[in-house]
Amino acid sequence: CSVESKEQVIEIAKAAKAAGANLLRGGAFKPRTSPYAFQGMGSEGLDILVAAKEATGLPIVSELMDAEYLDEFIEKVDLIQIGARNMQNFDLLKKVGKATKKPILLKRGLSATFQEWIMSAEYIMASGNPNVILCERGVRTFESYTRNTLDLQAVPVIKELTHLPIIIDPSHAGGKWWLVNPMAKAAVAAGCDGLMIEVHNNPEKALCDGPQSLKPAKFEQLMKELKPIADAVGKEI
Ligand code: PEP
Ligand code: MN
Repeated sequence: CSVESKEQVIEIAKAAKAAGANLLRGGAFKPRTSPYAFQGMGSEGLDILVAAKEATGLPIVSELMDAEYLDEFIEKVDLIQIGARNMQNFDLLKKVGKATKKPILLKRGLSATFQEWIMSAEYIMASGNPNVILCERGVRTFESYTRNTLDLQAVPVIKELTHLPIIIDPSHAGGKWWLVNPMAKAAVAAGCDGLMIEVHNNPEKALCDGPQSLKPAKFEQLMKELKPIADAVGKEI
């Protein structure tokens, strides 16, 4: 979830790459529910991601929370994430749309309808940046056992209503590491264009989202298990 140290990020990045990952995501600016929870390493965290990119060749993804840091993100990051909590921060959406043509990963808001989500993507595109990737990360429901409820209908619905790629984040959806494997498989079967999966070498000690993080060996296993499913639906891992 978060950049914690250079050693941590580079070790996980190498393991994830060896297992077949082709992007590295780490949070440097973290939107935490509690102001007393770890808030991320900020700019220093972005520099660690840049170092991990140099060490592995993996392009990097990180969440932008405030336009104040937009220039720095444009300089350092390959794919700019706008998190669920900022999906309707229209001012931020307009600013990223205007300032860059770098791809923007727009996560679905906690209780956003498809129309609201698509309109948020529209804000970025109407401001001049057509390169938007949508990310379903689970929505709020009456269920409290899981962190959120993964709405896999998002894949065919987004494909029906838009031309945009859609990826699935099963980690934030279920909030439990053992839900990631089956739901990632279901997402690939549903035709998603990518997965965003949290991997940590020591989840018990993670500063954020340990319970939903896969250890590298489990991630490697999942990548192997996804291949035949991707083949069956004409996709490539
Ligand atoms: C994240 O991707 O680390 C994150 C905070 O997710 P979301 O915005 O979907 O809650
Ligand atoms: Mn997280």
